[in-house]
Amino acid sequence: MRVLDRGDQLRKELDAARAAGCRVGLVPTMGALHEGHASLVRRSAAECDLTAVTVFVNPLQFNPGEDLDEYPADLASDIELATAAGAGLLFAPEVDDMFPGGPPGVTVRVADADVLEGASRPGHFDGVATVVAKLFNLAGPCRAYFGEKDWQQLGVVRRLVADLSLPVEVVACPTVREADGLACSSRNARLSPDERVAATVLYRALTTAAAAMAVGGSDAAAVRRVLADVVATEPLAALDYVEALPDRLLVAARFGTVRLIDNVHIGKTEI
Ligand code: AMP
Repeated sequence: MRVLDRGDQLRKELDAARAAGCRVGLVPTMGALHEGHASLVRRSAAECDLTAVTVFVNPLQFNPGEDLDEYPADLASDIELATAAGAGLLFAPEVDDMFPGGPPGVTVRVADADVLEGASRPGHFDGVATVVAKLFNLAGPCRAYFGEKDWQQLGVVRRLVADLSLPVEVVACPTVREADGLACSSRNARLSPDERVAATVLYRALTTAAAAMAVGGSDAAAVRRVLADVVATEPLAALDYVEALPDRLLVAARFGTVRLIDNVHIGKTEI
């Protein structure tokens, strides 16, 4: 496993790998890796010759007052997990290396991204798209792996690739959950024991609403009400939003200072 922290090194190593005939898979992350990330790495390692994991807590996608400074970090454990899952390279740059001149003057702006996560976190997806585009340009992967856990982000990345004709295939991977249904997230580590128990209400709300739809139909307002009612049963949960789209239910809520999101596919099969 090679660990790099400079963009020019990453480009050089992956250029050489490509010249030797390797298909490069990329797994962009913000570190504090868990089983959800591992599933992306394993999928890439199964489909590509060389898998590069990036660990970069991207300041452009955080708003003032969000948890940029508290975001969990543990590079030694990330290296261990990425290696075990089959990565060949881990790129963990400092902010100064990604943006030596301070915040970038040229950025990607994502249209229609002011709903759901974008409504609660203005500019978030512009920050995501700008850094994902930069990582794609540094790494030159043929495939890049993203989780359905961040469902709206997945759509933004697909749009980025389509609208800018980036030569990357985006691969969506299903959400990995803890045994009690809570979606794996780096932010789960910041929950108190009580909040950790309370957080299971998110998946409970999603599955309850999905089951209610199977019986009572798919009137979006009624489904949103079921989602909100279940979240409201948990005193430690402060609801941010619920949404019922034709094929997906989504929820976001705060537990203390920790904001969590989750979603499920509705329909006959998981994508
Ligand atoms: P993050 O480090 O949270 O920015 O996530 C990096 C990538 O891992 C994103 O594509 C996420 O959607 C994906 N991911 C995060 N949590 C999960 C999970 N529980 N299951 C599957 N993918 C995940």
